[in-house]
Amino acid sequence: MNWLLGGLGILSFVLAAFLAWKYFRLLRHLSLYTRLLQNIVAGQTTPESLPSNVPGLATLSNAVRSLTLNLLTKLEETETQRAELSAVLDRMTDGVLIANSKGRIQLANPAAEMLFETGSVIGKTVAEVIRHHQLIDAWRRAQSSGEEQSIAIEIPTRKRFLQLFVLPDRPKGICLLLVQDLTRLRRLETVRRDFISNVSHELRTPLASLKALTETLRDGALEDPEAARRFLNRIETEVDALSQMAAELLELTRIESGQAPLNLKSVAAARLLEIAADRMRAQAERAGLSLTVEVGQDLPYVRADASRLEQVLVNLIHNAVKFTPPGGEVRLSAIVEGPFVRFSVQDTGVGISAEDLPRVFERFYKSDRARSGGGTGLGLSIAKHIVEAHGGRIWAESVEGQGSIFYFTVPVG
Ligand code: ADP
Repeated sequence: MNWLLGGLGILSFVLAAFLAWKYFRLLRHLSLYTRLLQNIVAGQTTPESLPSNVPGLATLSNAVRSLTLNLLTKLEETETQRAELSAVLDRMTDGVLIANSKGRIQLANPAAEMLFETGSVIGKTVAEVIRHHQLIDAWRRAQSSGEEQSIAIEIPTRKRFLQLFVLPDRPKGICLLLVQDLTRLRRLETVRRDFISNVSHELRTPLASLKALTETLRDGALEDPEAARRFLNRIETEVDALSQMAAELLELTRIESGQAPLNLKSVAAARLLEIAADRMRAQAERAGLSLTVEVGQDLPYVRADASRLEQVLVNLIHNAVKFTPPGGEVRLSAIVEGPFVRFSVQDTGVGISAEDLPRVFERFYKSDRARSGGGTGLGLSIAKHIVEAHGGRIWAESVEGQGSIFYFTVPVG
């Protein structure tokens, strides 16, 4: 009996010791496991590092491994989508705002912050950001009706023309506000409208005088050979003016639409001035003006389309001759200025008023003084396009009554 009891005691002791050992081993594995999981959450290790062969924990371990792997894949996907969305929003030229049900901005892209010129907008109210009663009303209408709203308005203080779309999401009470900047489009429309009205206006004057001249001829002037010849000469002048305008308009359209690519070559800057001066010398002399060219010996080559730059110089010299009374001077020169050669055409003519000066390069612009004479007002805008296509700049300085200087630069090359 004693042996039996002793044996049982020893057996229970061994069993208890075995179970305690198992228990402590499990505890050790669990604490190791917890540390590994904490490291995975902290991004210091990957789920692959979780042991799959831990005795007693193999099933749990495998489940946790695949759960963590799944979770991480989902997180990665979400992060990629978020990065893609934020790249799209950052690069969009349209402004995007998302406002919650209380009208506080939850999301805004850089374009929206720029369009409303408010800096960081997150957390501000829609009214604080868009600061325009018509736009705020559109947002309110969308929120209360749950229907899409759109409105286009001009903000004169900010010189902008904006179009706002408000897209409400009724159940959540949030609103997506999409803002498009139509300023440039509107400006282009105005330019196009002005252009058409300018062309018609410019056509009307010569056409009206052609009509009057032909009527006078028909009504009897034809019988008087002397008068007929005079009228024919005037008709020819008007037709020439019309043809010049048609040619210049065509040229301007071709340059503006990029259909007149430049044929860039290395050209001696001095040679360009000489050629243009030779072409215009007879005209200057006829107008009683002296035409001189002043250039240094070491003037470099420029990278230019020679025939087009000649056209710029001829346009400038033509104007100088046209606006300088007899006895005056037209002086052409060129100097090196950094990586450019700066050409200049100077005259001692009537000059340009400070008010007209900034506008002379606009299409069809003519000062009041020039309005009565010939000319289409297109010459300088053609010159500007050509110079800018060369990577240069064109500008003018003038003192009314004393003369003008037109400058333009072309890269050395
Ligand atoms: P236009 O065919 O009328 O000469 P441009 O575009 O060449 O057209 O010139 C526009 C306007 O700029 C002219 O009508 C004139 O008022 C002014 N302008 C240009 N060059 C001169 C100049 N050298 N002196 C005075 N005014 C000038």
